[in-house]
Amino acid sequence: MSEDKLKIKLSKLPFMNSNLQLEDRIDDLLGRLTLREKFKLSSGRRMWHTKPIKRLGIKSFTMYDGPHGVRVDIQGKTQSTYFPSAICRAATWNPNLAKKFGIAIAQEVRDVGAQMVLAPGINIQRTPMCGRTFEYQTEDPYLNKELVVAVVKGIQSQRIAACVKHFICNNQEINRFTVNSEVSERALQEIYFPAFKAAVQDADTWSIMSSYNKINGIYGSEHEHLLRDVLMEKWGFSGFVVSDWKATNYISSTESCINAGLTLEMPMHDKYIISKMKKAFDEGKFTEEILNDNIKRLLRVMFLTGQFDDESTLPNGSRNTTEHQKLTREIAEEGIVLLKNEGDLLPLNPEKLEKIAVIGPNLNLKTHVGGGSSTNFPPYEITPLEGLEKKCNGKIEIVDSPSIADLTILFVGLNHEKGMDAEGYDRDSFTLPQDQIDLIEKTRNQNSNMVVILISGSPVSMIEWIDKVPTVLQAWYGGMEAGNAIAAVIFGDVSPSGKLPITFPKHLLDSPAHKSERTYPGSKDVFYDEGVFVGYRHFDVKNIEPLFPFGHGLSYTNFTYENLQLSKNTLTKDEILVVSVDIINSGDYIGAEIIQLYVQDIESSVERPPKELKGFKKISLKPMERSTLKFEINWEDLSFFNENTGKWTLEKGEFNILVGSSSRDIRLKDKFCHLG
Ligand code: BGC
Repeated sequence: MSEDKLKIKLSKLPFMNSNLQLEDRIDDLLGRLTLREKFKLSSGRRMWHTKPIKRLGIKSFTMYDGPHGVRVDIQGKTQSTYFPSAICRAATWNPNLAKKFGIAIAQEVRDVGAQMVLAPGINIQRTPMCGRTFEYQTEDPYLNKELVVAVVKGIQSQRIAACVKHFICNNQEINRFTVNSEVSERALQEIYFPAFKAAVQDADTWSIMSSYNKINGIYGSEHEHLLRDVLMEKWGFSGFVVSDWKATNYISSTESCINAGLTLEMPMHDKYIISKMKKAFDEGKFTEEILNDNIKRLLRVMFLTGQFDDESTLPNGSRNTTEHQKLTREIAEEGIVLLKNEGDLLPLNPEKLEKIAVIGPNLNLKTHVGGGSSTNFPPYEITPLEGLEKKCNGKIEIVDSPSIADLTILFVGLNHEKGMDAEGYDRDSFTLPQDQIDLIEKTRNQNSNMVVILISGSPVSMIEWIDKVPTVLQAWYGGMEAGNAIAAVIFGDVSPSGKLPITFPKHLLDSPAHKSERTYPGSKDVFYDEGVFVGYRHFDVKNIEPLFPFGHGLSYTNFTYENLQLSKNTLTKDEILVVSVDIINSGDYIGAEIIQLYVQDIESSVERPPKELKGFKKISLKPMERSTLKFEINWEDLSFFNENTGKWTLEKGEFNILVGSSSRDIRLKDKFCHLG
């Protein structure tokens, strides 16, 4: 039959009728598929596509990496916007920006003709040594959840599917294909699950990528309990699970993946080779009902992304637009964290400077390539040097010798080479390369007026040099506008407002995962012995002073916190506590502050973290401007997962509400009593 004739024939079928209910369209199409076609739909071909079924007009469903911009090919033939890395986006603590990012990346995905983006990556940053720390958001489940919901909603508002990855406990790259993460139920529930659960329940994500690793002895792609019972049954996930690329190679059976609920094996068939599927089916190892459920999930997302609808009814795509480039700059500017600023060396006053020395190995670094599947190919990338040159515009001389300059700006950090911030490997070292440490020392001896700018996607040790330098800025990998964003912050066009989404330890051994070889990197197994005490929860409970705490970030202005009020002194289960606080910009610059609310359970039958983030708000204020902020706390924010009963539990007793500018800079505190 000619293509035109087929089109006309298909257009009369119920599943092509966009006026019908979604589930009716899915059922109609499913009912037309043969068993063999269902097998065919279960695996990918050529890296990024599913197999088409021409007879029914099912086109291949196309998905591309990745978390920082859409990447169609590895040669960079198709260019796209390079957004700041996820840790930088997380450092903005700004769900609105996260949503805008989601919308923009989805527009680029649509523009290249795909239906899904393999992002966002939201594994908890259990250790700063994980090679993919830069690609993930944070160590904290609450911040993780608020941000992932915003990103997924943004992406899917464009009828492009998000693929939230990697489910779950994929927290290191060492032995990533086979390592078994041994983790307690309480840690899963309180730390590792919340953002995935919120991606399902609050943002209705259309896809989830299962992880390479095992979780408590079973690989992510065949984990029936985690996929079917938790994700689908308990949380109500209606999208489909796709395996991480070649993750199924390590799994022994076809039926375990099908029964677990793995819809799509990527990038090509292995366990889902048609003959293997047929044999397992003939031997009764899985039912057609189970397979139908898996396939329906993929069909559902094909309908949701508009595969069977008239293209003119779908949102428009767009790519490499000035709007997207402006957005990358905004995220980069808001994500920059001012770690230290002794003597208010920053912002620089161009009127008072004649010569600045601009040096360091990361001065000319472009960061879009490398690091693995988050590689991008943008039409341009502004390096730090280019950003500063543009900003100085010949009015301030840029030199490379600190001894003749008014001030030195030194760019150090990591890059995307193996052993640094890169997929597939963890970091070789927690410190900066020795030549960079020597350079910091040497520069300081020549001119102590210096600003150190860290370009890295994960915390580095600074213990050898932090006391010797007055000012340090964490600029992450800031996307294609990184250089302009850094220049804008240094010269005070923008007051820094980013806050750390991850604790910066003084020593690696202070970090929760680094108690022993068993807890990191493990060998066959890696034991999450720290349980729920991940990130600042660990530093708090062990009373270890971090170098820079979770939530830390300075501004050029000052903020005063006043008038903390709780709506009630006592609370019962269904009541909501309203917390209000006044913030005043008491300094001289316009600036934004991220107000953080932590909860502390004073009396508890189990050991609980001394504080847990349960709210935050970002607000921009002019000098002397004041604003009242309100937070709502409900019973879920106060409860813990009780392993004895298998339930979230809220015990009677006293709780503290802590409001501050970082997890270690609590400005106001009050308590209330929960009556149960
Ligand atoms: C990564 C995924 C990525 C996939 C496709 C895998 O190695 O773990 O995050 O989406 O490759 O590139």
